[in-house]
Amino acid sequence: MRIKWLGHAAFYLEVGGLKFLVDPWLNNPAYRSRPEDFTDVDFIVVTHDHGDHLGDAIEVLKVAQKARIVSIYEIASYVGEQVGVNRAIGANIGGPIKLGSELTAVLTPALHSSIRGAPVGVVIIAGGESLYHAGDTGVSYDMKLVGELYKPKVALLPIGGHFTMGPREAALAADLIRPKYVIPMHYGTFPILWGTPQEFVEEVRRRGLGIEVVVLKPGDEVSL
Ligand SMILES: [Zn+2]
Repeated sequence: MRIKWLGHAAFYLEVGGLKFLVDPWLNNPAYRSRPEDFTDVDFIVVTHDHGDHLGDAIEVLKVAQKARIVSIYEIASYVGEQVGVNRAIGANIGGPIKLGSELTAVLTPALHSSIRGAPVGVVIIAGGESLYHAGDTGVSYDMKLVGELYKPKVALLPIGGHFTMGPREAALAADLIRPKYVIPMHYGTFPILWGTPQEFVEEVRRRGLGIEVVVLKPGDEVSL
């Protein structure tokens, strides 16, 4: 799978040959991209509707003709009112969503807040591989179920603290999920997000898990 960090919680992903944006806040302080850069994207996943996550989802849907949003029902309905109901796939926590013969997404619990619906994370399963984007969340034992059920190869975890897990909590999350690779996110965008990838690497190492921490810079791309 191909993973590009667009800064903050925003990622461009290619999994099982399909193209995704997750939490496309494209014009963020850490990295700037434009809706026009993603005209061939297949799905946009939004974990909750705070501005730093819903971001430019509607603008991308306007320029990416075949793209559809996958989100909690209430957010999908809100976006569907603006871009057309056929462009919105609303679902709920824990129900596998069949997006194609080889592609399933699952919205996962997240300990956070949201204006519409409940905040979530997402597991994307395609081509025999699986990736987990935790959304904005505190650590929770539900993450152990994500690991048991979907065995994600890669977990994208917030580490910035204040609004989400910090490095110590995220290392416990990695322990519960047991992915092969973990990529820290949701740090460094604003001064209030104090967690650093160095602290996270140290916390994961201390647990002796054999999980590889892949630290990206905003704009970096990796194939795993
Ligand atoms: Zn956030």
